[in-house]
Amino acid sequence: MKPYREIVVVSGKGGTGKTTISSSFAVLGGEKLIVDADVDAPDLHVVLKPKVLEAHTFKGGKVAVIDRASCNFCGLCRELCRYDAITEEIEVDPVSCDGCALCYFACPEGAISLEEKDAGMWFVADTRAGFMVHARLVPGEENSGKLVTVIRNRAKEIAEEEGIRLILIDGPPGIGCPVISSITGADDVVVVTEPTISGIHDLKRVVELCSNFGVRVYVVINRFDINIERCEEIEDWCDEWKVELLGRIPVDESIPRLQEEGKTPVEENTLTGELIKEMWEKLVGEENHE
Ligand code: SF4
Ligand code: SF4
Repeated sequence: MKPYREIVVVSGKGGTGKTTISSSFAVLGGEKLIVDADVDAPDLHVVLKPKVLEAHTFKGGKVAVIDRASCNFCGLCRELCRYDAITEEIEVDPVSCDGCALCYFACPEGAISLEEKDAGMWFVADTRAGFMVHARLVPGEENSGKLVTVIRNRAKEIAEEEGIRLILIDGPPGIGCPVISSITGADDVVVVTEPTISGIHDLKRVVELCSNFGVRVYVVINRFDINIERCEEIEDWCDEWKVELLGRIPVDESIPRLQEEGKTPVEENTLTGELIKEMWEKLVGEENHE
């Protein structure tokens, strides 16, 4: 049995209040290690203001590099490249290059090599809520799942070294590869949703995905009062699918201001803060997470 519990907060799409929930969980009591696994659009740092302790380059994928001294400018590589990644001047556009290696094999002069490219950065940092591991992928790069795995592995190492028994992961939105990398091997997933048609649709997809990974799933309905009928529809669905409803939160006009000030609702005396505290108690107070 692993010596720590991993809780992941996800949502079917962005903008459902996932970061409000995960940043609030982060600052609530109890030692924990925080992971911002939304590597395409990380935003926990805005609230947690990390002080970086370690910075690492993330190498993802390959890029063609042309040795111009060996090149005879025959243009064959440019002709063959399906990604239009080689210019008329026989220069490689690293953003367009897919690293497929076709040009490498075709070049009559052996002038092309494939090198690993910098696809992002990842960090270990200290915050007011404890250690945090976070990352940023270079826009347009497609290795977000791999980067999520890298930072999760580092988080596990730190948890073992420091004897930290809880890892809280702010997962990416959606149901793609980075989400799968975030929930694989985790213990609990908290899905944040809202009572809209797309919210319900996305919730069902995320819960279905989670059920394939054997993780316990909890649901938070954010802004539940924008449509009470749909909110009840979600609650009935959770009942039917034996998914635990962790709680529901009303519309809270103070959230944008708090975000701007780098605060979470649990650090102010707000109803949302109280509701999130209750959810956290319910979640970490569970006995059956072995
Ligand atoms: S195929 Fe090789 S020799 Fe020809 S233009 Fe490309 S890099 Fe140069
Ligand atoms: S590696 Fe593939 S994508 Fe990149 S320049 Fe060569 S042929 Fe084009």
